[in-house]
Amino acid sequence: MFLRLTAKFTLAFLLIVLIIGVTTTWVGIRFIANGIVNQAQSKVKSDINAAREIYNDYASDIADLLRLNAERLLVKQAISTQQRKALKQLLDWVVEKEKLDILSIVDSQGKVIFRLANPHRYGDVVNNDIVKVALKNKEVVVSTCILEKTDLLKEGNEKLVQKATIKIFPTPMAKTTEARDESSIGMVILAAAPVFSAEGEFIGVIYGGRLLNKNYDLVDKIKEVVFGNESYKGKDIGTATIFQGDLRISTNVRREDGERAIGTRIAANVYDQVLGRGESYYDRAFVVNNWYLTAYEPIRDINGGVIGILYVGILEEKYADMRKRTISIFLAIVIMGMGVAIFIAHFLGRTILKPLDKMVQVSRQIANGNFDVKVDVTTSDEVGELANAFNMMIKSLKERESELKEYTQQQIMRSERLATLGQLSAGVAHEINNPLTGVLTYIRLIKKRLEKRSDADGDFRRYLDKVENETERVSTIVKNLLDFARQRDPNLKLVDVNLVISESLDLLEHKIRLQNITVETNFATLPRITADFSQLQQVFMNLIINAVEAMEQGGKLTITTEELKERNMLQIMFKDTGVGIPKEHLTQIFEPFFTTKPKGTGMGLSVVYGIISRHNGEIEVNSEVGKGTTFTIRLPITQNRS
Ligand code: ADP
Ligand code: MG
Repeated sequence: MFLRLTAKFTLAFLLIVLIIGVTTTWVGIRFIANGIVNQAQSKVKSDINAAREIYNDYASDIADLLRLNAERLLVKQAISTQQRKALKQLLDWVVEKEKLDILSIVDSQGKVIFRLANPHRYGDVVNNDIVKVALKNKEVVVSTCILEKTDLLKEGNEKLVQKATIKIFPTPMAKTTEARDESSIGMVILAAAPVFSAEGEFIGVIYGGRLLNKNYDLVDKIKEVVFGNESYKGKDIGTATIFQGDLRISTNVRREDGERAIGTRIAANVYDQVLGRGESYYDRAFVVNNWYLTAYEPIRDINGGVIGILYVGILEEKYADMRKRTISIFLAIVIMGMGVAIFIAHFLGRTILKPLDKMVQVSRQIANGNFDVKVDVTTSDEVGELANAFNMMIKSLKERESELKEYTQQQIMRSERLATLGQLSAGVAHEINNPLTGVLTYIRLIKKRLEKRSDADGDFRRYLDKVENETERVSTIVKNLLDFARQRDPNLKLVDVNLVISESLDLLEHKIRLQNITVETNFATLPRITADFSQLQQVFMNLIINAVEAMEQGGKLTITTEELKERNMLQIMFKDTGVGIPKEHLTQIFEPFFTTKPKGTGMGLSVVYGIISRHNGEIEVNSEVGKGTTFTIRLPITQNRS
């Protein structure tokens, strides 16, 4: 029992912890672990804005630079007089210092005056939209633009083309699969500023810019400013990339060999969203060789056309690890909780169930008849109370048992005595019965003879009458003795007990009325029982007579019948308000010849006893001197014929 209940306890606790644990883990993953990743993703969203800001700053720096140079008096003079040599002297150091890849000047009609990076090409009309806008609006314009290889050759030279040339790596999942080994398309941030003469006349436009291909200043600045060069497990957490179309032309995402991963292409789904539809893209994406939480935004040219993409991304690994850690912490808590649950269940098992176990053992001993046991549990809780109640129960069981033992012993002794008496009486009665019949026959013969003789003595005849009477009395006693001693088997029929009682009362009506006794009968509707009608009548008459004799000054006799369904018996009670029976007589009244009456025979109750036991019934007496006596008879409804 101990183990079984402990197991149940443990199981219940484990179940609770498991349910709570699974729920919390689920909630933890849902809201905390995923929250970490979601938060990181939304950080990336704001990072792309910062990156865009840096990109724009970078562009406006170039714009400022050109504006400043357009204001230079000497530059203005050199332009208006188209002195190429002077311009070279004036602007060379600017290009050098500001790392401009392109710096060129056109007149107010857009005709090229001078190209610093390619001094031998001039005179053609410029074909760049940014410069065209500056010419038209006479104000500073800056934007990103695409310069094809021919443009690069024009604005710069072979060196610039080389700088722009990027070797293309075939990329799985990429959208475009052009059969090209390399690309020489340049993406340039180009600014153009109007130049006015000292007199305020518009004399041309100075324009210049930086090639973004393989130019890592911008992406590294974004990385430094936005992500603070943070790294995780040796890898940069934050990365930035500039795409020309779908081609990485500037990045700090590294390949396996540590080289910058330029020349690879963007994944097809990002291509469709950003290049195709001109929308931003925020999600996790597989970049080169790791998963990143990313943001992509289109880079547009001056006409609003999408020509490239600005990208920032943070390594997902760090956040994935954080999520893993959170989940493991939750799991650890659940497992610990389970451990605690097992411990508590075991502890409860020990404190609660051990006393119960003890009680079971004690109960077994009681069942074996050993009442000298008790449970020693001294706790003040319900278990202690139970143990106390248990001990009290043992004590009262013990008392009850010894009372019962005493009572049954008495009962056995009484019936044994009565049985012995019965056997003895039967023998004697049988022996006496025969000679007695003979004596009576002879007395009657003598009486007949005497009647014929007229000279017979009157006294003699009277004596004979007396002898006859006394002998008949003896004969009745002997007959009663035989009744008591089971000499006659009952003649079993279906009998209505209420009817037997009524007839018995009728027969004794005269006697009852004489003594001023009232009779009350409480008859229940009874099933008929198998019994001997006349023997039952004898029983009831004896009990009624005894009751009447006990109430010489009058009184009340109450006769009650009822059915004891659960025992399949009838119960008949004769309750009188007579003199009662003293305690010391109670054990004797059923013995033959025991009487307290001067003219009594002491046979009545012994006959009653004999008949009731032959019917397999019970008889009980309850009496209180001065108050009255109750005889209770119980008879089985059906007799087992044996
Ligand atoms: P008897 O009536 O001849 O004395 P019983 O065997 O009928 O013999 O009764 C035995 C004794 O039991 C009676 O003498 C009487 O003392 C006592 N007794 C029986 N019934 C009652 C009773 N209802 N009230 C008081 N005493 C009784
Ligand atoms: Mg009697």
